[in-house]
Amino acid sequence: MAILGSINPMLMRGLDGDKAWRLEDYVKRGGYAALTRILTEKVPPEAVISEVKKSVLRGRGGAGFPTGLKWSFMPRVFPIDKYIVCNSDEGEPGTFKDRDILSYNPHSVIEGMAIAAYAIGASRGYNYIHGEIWAIYKRFEEALDEARAAGYIGQNILGSGFDFELFAHHGYGAYVCGEETALIESIEGKKGQPRFKPPFPASFGLFGKPTTVNNTETLGSIPFIMNLGGDAYLEAGKANSGGTKIFSVSGHVNRPGNYEVPMGTPFSTLLELAGGVRGGRKLKAVIPGGSSAPVVPAEMMMETTMDYDSIAKTGSMLGSGAVIVMDESTCMVKALERLAFFYYEESCGQCTPCREGTNWMYRIIHRIENGQGRPGDLDLLKDITPNIMGRTICALGDAAAMPVQSFLKHFGDEFAYHIEHKQCLVPRELQRIGSGFFKATA
Ligand code: SF4
Repeated sequence: MAILGSINPMLMRGLDGDKAWRLEDYVKRGGYAALTRILTEKVPPEAVISEVKKSVLRGRGGAGFPTGLKWSFMPRVFPIDKYIVCNSDEGEPGTFKDRDILSYNPHSVIEGMAIAAYAIGASRGYNYIHGEIWAIYKRFEEALDEARAAGYIGQNILGSGFDFELFAHHGYGAYVCGEETALIESIEGKKGQPRFKPPFPASFGLFGKPTTVNNTETLGSIPFIMNLGGDAYLEAGKANSGGTKIFSVSGHVNRPGNYEVPMGTPFSTLLELAGGVRGGRKLKAVIPGGSSAPVVPAEMMMETTMDYDSIAKTGSMLGSGAVIVMDESTCMVKALERLAFFYYEESCGQCTPCREGTNWMYRIIHRIENGQGRPGDLDLLKDITPNIMGRTICALGDAAAMPVQSFLKHFGDEFAYHIEHKQCLVPRELQRIGSGFFKATA
């Protein structure tokens, strides 16, 4: 974790010790103080939810939905189990923050889940951890053992009468299981495919019971909100984007890694923290929120700040905070081909527009990249994307179509050049796209 580069970190503060992930270290950093206070002072659950609402903590997994509001959708009275589920199924290209939180600060997630469970009245929880990161799953299991032995989870927590059982659940690497209803299906032991909505998980979730699904970083932030107070957390960020955010910076920078900074930090500052553009080259474009976010040209990015509303004004989205930096040596056709292949491979196949559309888009972009593009290919791509967007069960269809639309909008001339000249504008020897770029989390 790139701890040194962060600005006023919360989740990443104090993680440079030998064994920051151990319970002893977490407690020394003030860990479990929030849960202890809530349970011993018998803070009403509604007051906890109200504090989270005040903080304007927005879901850090990509959608940016206000967390406090999501919690308030849960029915207060329900005769049997309700669930809290942590979505650690981080699989989008460019995103690698949650695995670091689970590696170095797993108790913040456990404490956050216990507080969330108390607030929404859940008695059980699951942390669904992405396949392909077995070591991190094991570390989280060890943290669960420590928390259970110390009485922070389990029966009658800290003598308060509050019971909360928490389990880790290992996924198997399907990107679509990051969609909350596919994740729920997967925990239930079924094929991980998204459900039709409504009903939403708050009324019919895991095992048919009311369920709230929150992202790892979201839940890990809860103890800080309860310790600082909602207003102070909001002030640490920017209006409508409370607190700090971990940005996973990858691509053509000198120091790729995770950087936690206040919401509203200029993009130029974040780029500086990551050591600037590699090799002193010129910045060409940035994908600011994970591979599904529309690409933004350099000039626009350098003028913007890293928060939900500012990134939306560039025509993109903050998403999961995965910032993919591309320098002037990037072939935009090749970059889009990589992305299109990912979505084509990861479509679960339930909806025709997504199953067929991702296939078509990849094949067309692939032939353009290989010097076999046809004159009508760009119009064909422009025709396919609106026939996917908004016509599918889950957001993967939109996630596949949005990059295509934005690459054509901002870099259409490169695609036209490829078709006309059967080659790239950027000389082959300069192209870096094949050197591991986009491979981090696929
Ligand atoms: Fe599956 Fe794609 Fe439909 Fe989502 S949009 S349910 S991934 S086919």
